[in-house]
Amino acid sequence: MGKNIWHSFLELIYPSACSCPVCGRRGREVKEEGICSFCFEQISVNRKSWSYCLRCGRTLEEESWCMECRDDQPPFHIARAVGLYEGVLKEAVHCLKYRGKPSLSRPLGRLMAKVVETEAAYGRLELVVPVPLHPVRLRERGYNQSELLAREVADRLNLPVDCRVLTKTRNNVPQASLSRRERFSNVEGAFAVSSPSRVLNRRILLVDDIFTTGNTIRECSRVLLQAGAQRVSAVVLATGRGSIRHSGAKI
Ligand SMILES: [Zn+2]
Ligand SMILES: [Zn+2]
Repeated sequence: MGKNIWHSFLELIYPSACSCPVCGRRGREVKEEGICSFCFEQISVNRKSWSYCLRCGRTLEEESWCMECRDDQPPFHIARAVGLYEGVLKEAVHCLKYRGKPSLSRPLGRLMAKVVETEAAYGRLELVVPVPLHPVRLRERGYNQSELLAREVADRLNLPVDCRVLTKTRNNVPQASLSRRERFSNVEGAFAVSSPSRVLNRRILLVDDIFTTGNTIRECSRVLLQAGAQRVSAVVLATGRGSIRHSGAKI
């Protein structure tokens, strides 16, 4: 609250002093926690403008199951996203992840919590768990963006969060740099559950920033279920495009 008052005060004295952390523009009306109203609207429009796979949440031409979910059923119950990984939402993910703007996790985490609140298919949830970052990568970046998002989501949904139970045991190369086929073997065996008793019989909500091939969410879900979790669902900020047909363009 104090921060908001300070922000308003700055805006009053110095209208150009506060720039939007996503688009960098100054002087626009500021919505939730510093994102300007333009960026905020763009993110909301993005979310409403597509159909998605009822299982993994990737965008599709029509509401259905994407071909990958049909070919190889995911271990997770459902995954949903705030929007498609493009435009302002893509910018926001980049700001949060690569340009040292951890404070963006607050408004973005709130948007994710809203997605969970409005999707009845999640059912009852008991524990929020972020996709972990390997300690080496964590030292480089200084923070795990998925953990910051998970904390905000948990706070909003009034659920406990456990940022230690799922660990990254192998510092694999970033998924974005690999081909689709390589991505699967890259994450295989890269995660572990530190203490299975903490996930036993629980309904877990996994939190990550982006969902592209879904291999990371699949692998994290698999190890959590193997450790005794009752059900694993996921929520991400941004998702990729899915396809209904085998011949379609790959994301
Ligand atoms: Zn903006
Ligand atoms: Zn799918």
